[in-house]
Amino acid sequence: MEPQARLDAIVRQIAQNMVAEVCSAYVLRADGVLELYATVGLNPGAVHHSALRLGQGLVGTIASSARSLNLAEAQKHPAFEYLPETGEEIFNSFLGVPILRAGRTLGVLVVQNEAHRLYGDDEVEALETVAMVLGELIAAGDLKRLANDGVELDLSRPVATAAQPLAEGIGLGHVVLHEPRVVVTNLFNEDGDAEIERLASALSSLRLTIDDMLSRREVAFEGEHRDVLESYRMFAHDKGWVRRLEEAIGNGLTAEASVEKVQSDMRARMAAVSDPYLRERMSDFDDLANRLLRELIGEDAASREANLPSDTIIVARSMGAAELLDYPRKNLRGLVLEDGASTSHVVIVARAMGIPVVGQATGIVALSENADAIIVDGISGDLHLRPQPDVEAAYTEKVRFRAKRQQEYRDLRDKPSLTRDGKPFALHMNAGLLVDLPQLGESGAEGIGLFRTELQFMIAETFPRAEAQETLYRSIAEAAGAKPVTFRSLDIGGDKVLPYFRSAPQEENPALGWRAIRLSLDRPGLFRTQMRALLKAAAGRELRVMLPMITDVSEIAQARAIIHREVHHLSKFGHGLPLRLNLGAMLEVPSLLFDLDALMCAADFVSIGSNDLFQFMTATDRGNTAVAARYDPISKPFLKALKAVAAAADKHGTPLTLCGELAGKPLGAMALAAIGIRTLSMSPASIGPVKAALMATDLGALAGRIDTVIENGAQTADMHAIVREFAEENDVPYR
Ligand code: PEP
Ligand code: MG
Repeated sequence: MEPQARLDAIVRQIAQNMVAEVCSAYVLRADGVLELYATVGLNPGAVHHSALRLGQGLVGTIASSARSLNLAEAQKHPAFEYLPETGEEIFNSFLGVPILRAGRTLGVLVVQNEAHRLYGDDEVEALETVAMVLGELIAAGDLKRLANDGVELDLSRPVATAAQPLAEGIGLGHVVLHEPRVVVTNLFNEDGDAEIERLASALSSLRLTIDDMLSRREVAFEGEHRDVLESYRMFAHDKGWVRRLEEAIGNGLTAEASVEKVQSDMRARMAAVSDPYLRERMSDFDDLANRLLRELIGEDAASREANLPSDTIIVARSMGAAELLDYPRKNLRGLVLEDGASTSHVVIVARAMGIPVVGQATGIVALSENADAIIVDGISGDLHLRPQPDVEAAYTEKVRFRAKRQQEYRDLRDKPSLTRDGKPFALHMNAGLLVDLPQLGESGAEGIGLFRTELQFMIAETFPRAEAQETLYRSIAEAAGAKPVTFRSLDIGGDKVLPYFRSAPQEENPALGWRAIRLSLDRPGLFRTQMRALLKAAAGRELRVMLPMITDVSEIAQARAIIHREVHHLSKFGHGLPLRLNLGAMLEVPSLLFDLDALMCAADFVSIGSNDLFQFMTATDRGNTAVAARYDPISKPFLKALKAVAAAADKHGTPLTLCGELAGKPLGAMALAAIGIRTLSMSPASIGPVKAALMATDLGALAGRIDTVIENGAQTADMHAIVREFAEENDVPYR
């Protein structure tokens, strides 16, 4: 049947069943107008002509509030508006319900009678149920063909939103909903009692799953995860919910259609609620309803994977790091999260995999349908769902331009790392997971200058066992081949929290608290296990280990003593050992700046953690956006301090590197190289741009300009501007 004929038949049937003189269906267009798509009882000439804006008249009010209106005297309602082309003034009673799908309003369905009557609850239920069927019809795209030329339905409306950029890059592709909405195709039941039974058995197995999750070891303590599950359990036993589900079945729906309907009503009603606590609870409820649907229908994960588009952009409310790793990397072009922060584990992993991510994209899950076109801009945070052709063309061009630049960087890969005036430099990369390793070859890094071992701990559900640690370290060393890897001992505490490890009572200042080397020395069991895993994994090779947050030089000797005991233990039991152990210290705490000679003697090498060093020198929390950008690391005091470190390292012949964010910025790297720090470690994506900038820099000339300011105590100057002007004058690519 043609879509118009089908729609006409539906409204005719409703009018008949409900003994109504009028039944009309309105569909929401992309321009926010509700257009009359079908009617019996009103003037047929008004179809595809009569239109109301969202919020206008009774129909517009129903659409904008997503609530039904049941009125015995429609004309007396303050929102009533008379549309002459429909000839509707003779009708007194009015029942209108929103056409909802996944919480979105797609249109409005109305019945009217001449008599003054109030429709019964069962009639309201029945009309809402039919509206749900219409929602499926609209979502299936059948009605698009009926639209007047150039008019789009709201369902295919382009949506552009500004979200938060969390991982660099641009992705063009198609939506894959992480928790796919289960499409309910079987709407009407033939045997209500059998459906009630199906519902009851699905509910009890859902409850069992939740109890099971709650009793698992990793959540068997207080914490956010447990809170969520507790509220799931509460909802799963919620009598009101179960009653509404059973009522919907009583009205003729299948068990799965009743879940969908109750959830859709609830979601639409909650759309206007802004209270963050309630919204969060609503999302939990959504997840639960989705789980129940999957219990009822049974989903086929394997066929889903096989049908994954080659340009998948995952859209999820939230996601665990392990879940992301379940998707094949080759299909992934981006990730969109309704929550998610730059320190979420899933974001850390996505960044390592080189997938652009945006977070805090409120409401995106409800707006998206599987297979919708979508663009993720992980640089600006912009998100374009169902983009207009011109937006898509602009982005395609942007991606092409970035690819060309990447090619230019690849061409630099095999060129010697020498500045314009012939001074050598070395660029290494920062890493923390096995998924980072392919970048070692692709970026042209000379090695891994910082391997953040805590990442394995952060994405795990429980403490990784000694064997798991050893396996990871061995795989990393093997994947790196001849390139050196510097493993940093566990740097937990501060902003790096392990959900399963409650270290101390709540700390008032965690950044200044019981973290990193402090924790390692106080809880040597943890440190010993890690060192043993590293020593075993590096058998037959050189092992480079560095210690985070050294505050007092004596801490290096304490750590060295523990490691030596492990070496002794392993050799006693005949294990292979590393050929050489290089033990480095990270310079992240300003106190060390005043004990540089001792530091350079105690450590085999020193690596400046400029993120923390800068945070502590300027007393600005690196994670607090209100202050984090206030002071500039390319500034006189900071460069002056770093230059003193470089001089001390030089004097003692101690190798020096720097591995904070500053190294990955072309202007930062230029300033660092100019003051004598020429081994830098950075995110792999920065290696190309930094290499291009350093190769074009006459280091001697730049050093001259910087030194003039550093050595003249009384002079103040905008050091950042000096370096930038130098780059501009000398055609150094620095953006
Ligand atoms: C630093 O502090 O600069 C550093 C490299 O360590 P992290 O960012 O892991 O604290
Ligand atoms: Mg640090």
